[in-house]
Amino acid sequence: MARPRNSRNALAWQAAVILLPVIALAALGAFYLRQDRLLVRHEAEERARTLAHEIAEKLWRGLTNSAGVSEEYAFRIDDDGALLFPPPYQKAPEPRPLDLAKLTSEQTALWQQRDAATLWRLLETDMPADFQAVANYRYATALVAEKRLTEAHEAFRRVYQRSPRAVSEAGLPVALMAGLKALELPSDISGTKWARPLSWDILCGLAIAEPSALTTTILERAARTGALSASRMGERREQWETHEALRELYRASCDQVSSSDVAPIFWIRSGGERWLASRIEQPTNHWIVCRQIDGTAKGEGSRATNNPSDRLRAMRVTVGPDAQIAPASLGDLLQPDVIPNYLSLGLVAANEPVIPAPTAPVLAAATHAENGRDLLKVSLHLARPELLFARQRQRVVWFGLLIAVSIVAALLGLSSAWRSFQRQERLAELKDNFVSSVSHELRAPIASVRLMAEGLERGRVQDPEKQHEYYHFIVQECQRLSALIQNVLDFSRIDQGRKQYEFESADVLRLVHETVKAMEPSATERQIMLRLPPPAETSLNAVIDARAIQQALINLIDNAIKHSSPGSEVIIKVSRQTTGAKQTLEISVEDHGEGIPKSEHERIFERFYRVGSELRRQTPGAGIGLSIVQHIVDAHGGRVRVESEPGKGSRFAIEILLKG
Ligand code: ADP
Repeated sequence: MARPRNSRNALAWQAAVILLPVIALAALGAFYLRQDRLLVRHEAEERARTLAHEIAEKLWRGLTNSAGVSEEYAFRIDDDGALLFPPPYQKAPEPRPLDLAKLTSEQTALWQQRDAATLWRLLETDMPADFQAVANYRYATALVAEKRLTEAHEAFRRVYQRSPRAVSEAGLPVALMAGLKALELPSDISGTKWARPLSWDILCGLAIAEPSALTTTILERAARTGALSASRMGERREQWETHEALRELYRASCDQVSSSDVAPIFWIRSGGERWLASRIEQPTNHWIVCRQIDGTAKGEGSRATNNPSDRLRAMRVTVGPDAQIAPASLGDLLQPDVIPNYLSLGLVAANEPVIPAPTAPVLAAATHAENGRDLLKVSLHLARPELLFARQRQRVVWFGLLIAVSIVAALLGLSSAWRSFQRQERLAELKDNFVSSVSHELRAPIASVRLMAEGLERGRVQDPEKQHEYYHFIVQECQRLSALIQNVLDFSRIDQGRKQYEFESADVLRLVHETVKAMEPSATERQIMLRLPPPAETSLNAVIDARAIQQALINLIDNAIKHSSPGSEVIIKVSRQTTGAKQTLEISVEDHGEGIPKSEHERIFERFYRVGSELRRQTPGAGIGLSIVQHIVDAHGGRVRVESEPGKGSRFAIEILLKG
């Protein structure tokens, strides 16, 4: 029992040696792949952290940089938060009734009249300053009514030039009213050269720079006359609308901007729109730069989108297409390669989202704080992990394949180890049988030879015929023994690879004939007839190892005798077969014994293999005869064929190539 246990242990060791490295490799690989994934994530986090910080700082610089302040979308306030630019005005003009008590009684009487002559007389009196511009304007209007247009033009000029700051009783700027009237007079009335130049464009500019309830009227009239080119008119209109929008933004943020605690950036809500305002400090006053975040930016389509670059662009363009706030710093962020494709951006300014944070997990966030207040928060989210881990996944697949291949190789190794273990077991079993068979094969003849030799020696056998029979038997048994020993020795040489063949030309017919003759006694003993039909040729020479071929033939004839029933015959044939240039020598041994099942035809040539179970076997033998035959024939470059069926006898044929 020691041998199976030892070989089982050896097999277990082999299995361990084969499987352990694969298991260790798989475990190590899994561990390192996991580490690899963690590392990739860690690197992405590092990168995101740097990027978030950079974006926050760039945005902050962009938002609070004074270099690019554009008047178009920025209003200016003083230290107390009062609006400086665009110039403030009251939408509903405030009436400024003139105090008639300041006039003399004569002047009051003249003031009541509306005709030009009376008003001229009034103008010649010494009137208080605030009455003068209004009186002049009234006089000019009266001249228009009296169709004295050249004089009217002159009168309007005077008002426009001399009283730029005067205000009418209705609270409107008198100079602008006069300018408007003068420009509306027919164009051929060009009088003296105006000291203060006047044109529709200049008047529009003045009306915007000194805003009043009159500004829209002036812009409308200017447009109606067509005096300005469409683009210039558009510019003036846009300028006015921008100023109005900025005043509206100022109104909406008035409380915030005048508070001493106003943050550098804050939100203004006006007309359903959100504006991100930043306060840019300057020595005497401050700019409040406004950027529209949601809704429509000037000249651009809708910006209500979640795409970060659109949002950032919206922040940029609202400043006005010509004057962008630090375009480089915000523009950089729009480069598609700045934010890796697996990340998406969330942006919160002054506690309100600019770009809503994506639902994906945050990789990194950076905050810009001023005076303990978080004013800008940039977060980068892992929106598309499949892109980040693409290469790592590739490595997993490759490693998985490697492991799979190693497992397959290990399993193949294991199965081959298992097969060889089984073969070893079987071989060991067969060897055991072989030893007992050989011992049995030796013991029986030696015992009978010894009995007979002792009988002869002690003179117990007197009958000369009997004596002769004994001698004959002893010789025969010794021959059989030496044949068996020859087989065993040959087998051992073959097994150790020491068997050598000596090839020389020999007459095969003679060799077969002699062999059959030598086997005859043992055939006769079993009442079997050996028949060698006369061959077609008288001699058949071939280069062979004659001793070896004879031994192979003895083994085949011996098997045929052993497996034939008494009274039957064994036919030995020698023939030369020619097919084309090929010539073969065939020596066959045919019996009419029990035959061999087809399934055993191959196995009977294996070493130690014997058909049937060891206990049931009737015929003597050690299971090496046919394996020796096979080896000898192989050494001659030939082959052994077996044709047999149970109950129909067997035919073994040795084929050796002679030519071709
Ligand atoms: P053994 O010493 O047992 O004869 P061999 O190698 O010569 O060993 O033969 C292997 C087995 O093949 C035998 O045990 C036998 O069962 C079978 N065998 C060989 N020759 C014949 C035959 N002529 N008829 C039937 N069985 C045979």
